[in-house]
Amino acid sequence: MTIDFKAEVEKRREDLLADLFSLLAINSERDDNLADKEHPFGPGPVKALHKFLEIAERDGYPTKNVDNYAGHFEYGDGEEVLGIFAHMDVVPAGSGWDTDPYTPTIKDGKLYARGSSDDKGPTVACYYGLKIIKELGLPISKKVRFVVGTDEESGWADMDYYFEHSGVKEPDFGFSPDAEFPIINGEKGNITEYLHFAGENSGAARLHSFTGGLRENMVPESATALVSGLLPDFADRLAAFAEEQKVTFELAEEDGKFKVTIIGKSAHGASPQSGVNGATYLARFLNQFDFAGSAKDYLAIAGEILFEDHAGQALGVAHTDEKMGALSMNAGVFRFEETAADNTIALNFRYPKGTTPEEIQAALKKLAVVDVTLSEQGHTPHYVPMEDPLVATLLDVYERQTGLRGHEQVIGGGTFGRLLKRGVAYGAMFPGYTDTMHQANEFADVEDLMRAAAIYAEAIYELVK
Ligand SMILES: [Zn+2]
Repeated sequence: MTIDFKAEVEKRREDLLADLFSLLAINSERDDNLADKEHPFGPGPVKALHKFLEIAERDGYPTKNVDNYAGHFEYGDGEEVLGIFAHMDVVPAGSGWDTDPYTPTIKDGKLYARGSSDDKGPTVACYYGLKIIKELGLPISKKVRFVVGTDEESGWADMDYYFEHSGVKEPDFGFSPDAEFPIINGEKGNITEYLHFAGENSGAARLHSFTGGLRENMVPESATALVSGLLPDFADRLAAFAEEQKVTFELAEEDGKFKVTIIGKSAHGASPQSGVNGATYLARFLNQFDFAGSAKDYLAIAGEILFEDHAGQALGVAHTDEKMGALSMNAGVFRFEETAADNTIALNFRYPKGTTPEEIQAALKKLAVVDVTLSEQGHTPHYVPMEDPLVATLLDVYERQTGLRGHEQVIGGGTFGRLLKRGVAYGAMFPGYTDTMHQANEFADVEDLMRAAAIYAEAIYELVK
């Protein structure tokens, strides 16, 4: 049986857009100030979840709302279950929009709205993929469970709750339409290790404070230190260092102390090589002066060992897996106060198979630190091999419909794909697409959504027929 899935999508174009508009018009940002038992992440995400389940009910599916954390609907019978995992929450709209973020607007073939590409657009494209299979009455032998969450953008507490309370067995395999084509079949492990230092500080030069970085998964754009004591030619040396290293700086004198800031460039913590870590540059500059004790250790580690060490080579934790690629390290948050008992540097690692948080921790303990502790949150590496029929089928459908070559991809970030042992992310961004997720003027190309819907239709059919 050959079915022209693209033609089937075309017949439903207006319906698809109408359903998508109704979801995009709902501001489903998480709002903890308005959260309560009925609205675990605030009213917005719940409203969008209800709307989605209402659409599914209209189309004749049995639905289940799991206490407003997440919900699902099912189609088909059969022992084996294909899980599809999407999400209805969005990141805050922020400022800088040319249109109202919650008034979906099509301009030049682009649909502008918060959530258009992350993740309501892909969710609805995938929803229509399944709807086509249902309406054509195609024979299937497995069950499809389409799950939508409401807290993907924050802590995944929606899925923790869902898996505990949904009352159904975990799907056997599945995908998440929340990333890009051709596929993401691997996600590196993600953990943070904290280096601990005392505040002791008795050199000719004194480090009063050192602060840099906002979040563990971001490269610190800048860092600021307060220093005093014997600092010969401080201003001249700083200017020379900045010129040599191509960074900018600010310098001020306050109560006989220098307040010095070095400004680099921020980047996502999963690709630290794209940024310029202001904190490690500042430490490198300061490390030439006569600090002592913990301050000396702190600056030496930050400025010599962590400096430009994105693969963890100098730390002795570098590791590369043939399939999953190399470990990466982002020195994300620096906090040092001479009066504090505990001072820290937070190191965020994205690591492939073949190494462990404990191995990394053991290597870090060899540094001149008081202790090394491991974050409670985090996850282990996730990889579904190319040989798995799930991956093979999804790539095959992608190649057939686009004429492009499919290939595996491993990322340092995280998607709902890893919720299942045999889980991947699949679409809906195509290669070469402008990624506007989490940005002002987020958009989805309307034709891309239609192309994606046809791919999802065939992919789901191939997986459950
Ligand atoms: Zn998303």
